[in-house]
Amino acid sequence: HKEVKSDIEIAQNAKILPIINIAKSIGIEKVDIEPYGHYKAKLSLDILKKLENKQNGKVILVTAVNPTPAGEGKSTVTVGLGQALARLDKKAIIAMREPSLGPTMGVKGGATGGGYSQVIPMEDINLHFTGDIHAITTANNALSAMIDNHIYQGNELEIDVRRIVWKRVVDLNDRALRNVIIGLGGAVQGVPREDGFDITVASEIMAIFCLASDLQNLKHRLSKIVVGYNFKKEPITVGDLGVEGSLTLLLKDAIKPNLVQTLEHTPAIIHGGPFANIAHGCNSVLATKMAAKLGDYVVTEAGFGADLGAEKFLNIKTQSAEIHPSAVVIVATIRALKMHGGVEKQELNTENVNALTSGLKNLQKHIETIEEFGIPFVVAINRFITDTDSEVMAIKKWCEERKYPVALTEVWEKGGEGGIDLAQKLLNVIEHEKNTFKPLYKNKQVIEEKIETIARKVYGASGVEFSSKAKKQLVEIEANGWGELPICMAKTQYSLSDNPKLLGRPENFTITIRELRPKIGAGFIVALTGDVMTMPGLPKVPAALKMDVDLSGQAVGLF
Ligand code: ADP
Repeated sequence: HKEVKSDIEIAQNAKILPIINIAKSIGIEKVDIEPYGHYKAKLSLDILKKLENKQNGKVILVTAVNPTPAGEGKSTVTVGLGQALARLDKKAIIAMREPSLGPTMGVKGGATGGGYSQVIPMEDINLHFTGDIHAITTANNALSAMIDNHIYQGNELEIDVRRIVWKRVVDLNDRALRNVIIGLGGAVQGVPREDGFDITVASEIMAIFCLASDLQNLKHRLSKIVVGYNFKKEPITVGDLGVEGSLTLLLKDAIKPNLVQTLEHTPAIIHGGPFANIAHGCNSVLATKMAAKLGDYVVTEAGFGADLGAEKFLNIKTQSAEIHPSAVVIVATIRALKMHGGVEKQELNTENVNALTSGLKNLQKHIETIEEFGIPFVVAINRFITDTDSEVMAIKKWCEERKYPVALTEVWEKGGEGGIDLAQKLLNVIEHEKNTFKPLYKNKQVIEEKIETIARKVYGASGVEFSSKAKKQLVEIEANGWGELPICMAKTQYSLSDNPKLLGRPENFTITIRELRPKIGAGFIVALTGDVMTMPGLPKVPAALKMDVDLSGQAVGLF
């Protein structure tokens, strides 16, 4: 075997072109490019106006089976597929999320792809990038400061400090901040109350940022955020506090999508990054729309498995973006399927065709879900060097017997060249298969029905139970006139059910809705199941322990 280089070694040794050249290659005029250094640029929203009448490119959504904690290679396949389409002379643009520092410094690692399918400069993108996430953190915490100041200055709106739902955020995994008491120290230090921190990528402002269609719409959505309730239990909004203008101002540059390139100089627009288990899990609508105007093919991804990111992309994002996906790629790895077939984490590198075959039922469920949405798809086997030929044969045969289009993908090892088969099969299904895409529910349906639909059709559950707290909230949500919003499910990524230990394709289980959280600015109701947390913790050995910077200022150990 040839020596395996780390992702960062590959990225740092790559030839990188000035970002101006990349922008020019997709017809962006100079006035619409705002370079951040040599290799990153923000793109003016004027591009969307200029290309308003141009037909949209075809949008390809990359999703996956239920993942292992390391990830199954969706970002890697997204980048590799974009590179492969470019090799086939297609005008392809990649649209991805910005990485959060929580997982980057924690266990999962970065989110810029891997091997020979990466977006670069990877250390910038994985660290502070163009500062968008910091701007979102600041806007979020500016709102917190305004709320506490309002209360301190006499609380004209009669905000009930016990019913404030707006939390502070930081873009790190920091479990010690989950529950805090603020305002201690006496009369001039503020009014004491319970507060807490979420990770920035779980903030409603991140969701709003990713769903807003322009600056005006961003401001409108921000004004509708419900921060808490008054003593009469009526909602208090950002509009009531009068701070939507200043929050929009803090986000005016961040809202412009960021342009970078892949290792093979394919353009990539990276913008916004909500988690997919507790938020909606897709890059910004502006980035996807811009990519669709600038390119003939857009390759984009949604977080975690098809039960989370893809479900939310298809039921929520398509409505805000007015974009219909042309095809879906379902990424499967042999190691994840073996895990779904009962193999322990330590044994995943050992050949086990029986476990693999039994684990295929997880893939089967996700295929059925995408079929339910009416979109053509291709299964992409993301090959690891530890996968054996008999394992690869087993999954290919299984797909072929069922007439599921399948491609072996070696984009990690070979870059775009390793994704040619996948690209060709995709172009083929886009051209020849029927596309009858439709969201699975209508917003007009009542909340219980919308949640039932997702639980039964996407998770394969036999029903839904609502806690007594959630039942009370259902009544309040209807009374406030929010019943017609779509649902953003918060659920573990590891299982189709709400129990992370139930792998494979669980049957005869119910989903428990613990709590409902109205996110009126984002325009959805979050339904929390199981113990999904909005502020993760660090593992015993965080990835941060390997990170360093050398004397020349180069990042080291960023995987
Ligand atoms: P996801 O987007 O599904 O979370 P990523 O694309 O971020 O997954 O990949 C997770 C990690 O796995 C990355 O560190 C990446 O380099 C690595 N990886 C992905 N595909 C392969 C592969 N085929 N062989 C080896 N490592 C891979």
